[in-house]
Amino acid sequence: MNLVLMGPPGVGKGTQARYLVEGRRLVHISTGDMLRAAVASGSELGQKVEAVLAAGELVSDDLMMDLVKDRLQQPDVAGGWLLDGFPRTGAQAEGLIGMLEEIGQTVDAVLVITAPDEEIVRRLTQRVTCRVCGKIMNRKDLDPARPGVCPACGAETDPVTGKAAIYQRDDDTEATIRRRLQVFATETMAAARVLQGRFPYHEIVGTGTPDEVARKVADVLG
Ligand SMILES: [Zn+2]
Repeated sequence: MNLVLMGPPGVGKGTQARYLVEGRRLVHISTGDMLRAAVASGSELGQKVEAVLAAGELVSDDLMMDLVKDRLQQPDVAGGWLLDGFPRTGAQAEGLIGMLEEIGQTVDAVLVITAPDEEIVRRLTQRVTCRVCGKIMNRKDLDPARPGVCPACGAETDPVTGKAAIYQRDDDTEATIRRRLQVFATETMAAARVLQGRFPYHEIVGTGTPDEVARKVADVLG
């Protein structure tokens, strides 16, 4: 089974990806992993990627398409794959359709996990990280009597920087979240609409527990 998984930040896409990959023995293909693997391989394609990243530039649609094409033809993904984080734009979606035809593959389902913007803003602004052990938590997981102490490692300050251990990442401030949601609504949803015209397509409401969402996903996949 070949799947494309899409969803805005904070919707729990990573958790669902893990369930799908483990439950259906798929190979998880994320763009970040793919870029890192290409660079590590030292291949001609990898050297191009390395040069682009070293210059601090964005990887072009053409280069990304070559990487995906290369990855989807490797023997380890023959039993099924889950594409995560690609395509991100309508142009990439058009490119993916053409490329899959070229290599004789298809997509069995496009899954888009959705949630109301307000729910996502509420979830992500509640998220805090520990500078010392790196654990990501919800504010409600902190001890109300000692909200500055990491429940995982017990740190209150980071010995390296002297800053408070518990902090909110810049990514998780409301303005940043709303900007990312806007990008998702315009660009990524444009990609989803292109794929919707071609492959079986399902939007799944991502509210509820991860297990509840996983059941909804299982229902649509059959
Ligand atoms: Zn910690």
